Amino acid sequence: MDSKLPNVGTTIFTVMSQLANECGAINLSQGFPSFNPPQRLLDLITHYLNAGANQYAPMQGVPSLRNAVAAKCARLYGRSLNPDTEITVCTGATEGLFSAIQTIVRSGDEAIVFDPAYDSYAPAVTLAGGHTVHVPLAIDPADGEYRVDWDRLRDAIGKRTRLIILNFPHNPTGANLTRRDLDSLAAIVRDTGIYLLSDEVYEHIVFDGAEHQSLLRNDELWPRSFVVSSFGKTYHATGWKVGYCIAPPAMTAEFRKVHQFTCFAVITPIQHALADYMRETPQHYDELPAFYQEKRDSFCSLVKDSRFTFRPAQGTFFQLLDYSHITREDDVSYAKRLTREIGVASIPVSVFCEVPPGNFKLRFCFAKDDAMLEQAAEKLCNL
Ligand code: PMP
Ligand code: GLN
Repeated sequence: MDSKLPNVGTTIFTVMSQLANECGAINLSQGFPSFNPPQRLLDLITHYLNAGANQYAPMQGVPSLRNAVAAKCARLYGRSLNPDTEITVCTGATEGLFSAIQTIVRSGDEAIVFDPAYDSYAPAVTLAGGHTVHVPLAIDPADGEYRVDWDRLRDAIGKRTRLIILNFPHNPTGANLTRRDLDSLAAIVRDTGIYLLSDEVYEHIVFDGAEHQSLLRNDELWPRSFVVSSFGKTYHATGWKVGYCIAPPAMTAEFRKVHQFTCFAVITPIQHALADYMRETPQHYDELPAFYQEKRDSFCSLVKDSRFTFRPAQGTFFQLLDYSHITREDDVSYAKRLTREIGVASIPVSVFCEVPPGNFKLRFCFAKDDAMLEQAAEKLCNL
């Protein structure tokens, strides 16, 4: 049959997790924690399941959860939001991203992504009839960090550009934005009137004392922005698929026209439970940077004597390792060979790029318990 997405196969996450399972390998590929959400949050879900919260939730999300998200954004990002007109609960960030792209992109429009780019953006642009323009992140020669090259972004903007899709903290490189980056982006929005879609699912996972630069912080960016996040990363519950999309009222009204036919409503008892837990325990997300920084540091110190080289990630729960001192094999075949022969599964970075960057990097998820990280590192150190 004719395909609307001719160049798309099964996602690399599905492929690598399946291979890891078949080989009995330690799975550091697809990003999900090996540990459970907080017990109190699980108890709240049980409570709501038994209290009758089992029918359709309102299309825009239960009010208490939208209120809790508004309270968090006011506290952390200084943005006062109207939960009725500016916040919509979604079926994971994936649905929020998809619906925002369908809201903005029309046939023949262009959307810009930064490579390496999370894999769901470009197919959603294609389904909307648009064209994805890939701008590579630059590796700063001074410190080896991935950064946006703002001049290169400006050069990529044309008459048909409608949307720039950002993702910071960045999967897979762990890069963050700075306040100066927000100013550079604001200058571009001022000159062009382009819309922004900011995937901030790792908003609470930033390291070394850095602050997450949400687009919500900036008065010039906010009026043009859809900001999408997910409870999956924050509460160790990627399987629940609950997230949200924040945008100014006129943009939210359009967004909801798409959202109501994409998923209609999101799982009811979990929304109530998340609302209570967010209200009761704001320290959960305050403590997340330290929690994950310890895991990053422990993984990095476990592999420091291996033949892999790296710069510690600045955010997210992923660490890139450079294997160029081990082999010059391409990353997809090396990731598969490592899974089969060594027993550690990872994600090759080139699959996130339109043009393979020609470097030798694999992404490892460190949202795992200590024993798993130790076993994986031992195998990697034996290479
Ligand atoms: N964006 C990025 C950058 C991600 O890494 C992920 C998945 N981990 C998602 C979106 C999707 O989030 P969700 O599982 O809430 O749909
Ligand atoms: N976001 C997760 C990752 O980057 C996986 C999501 C998925 O399986 N599609 O690993």
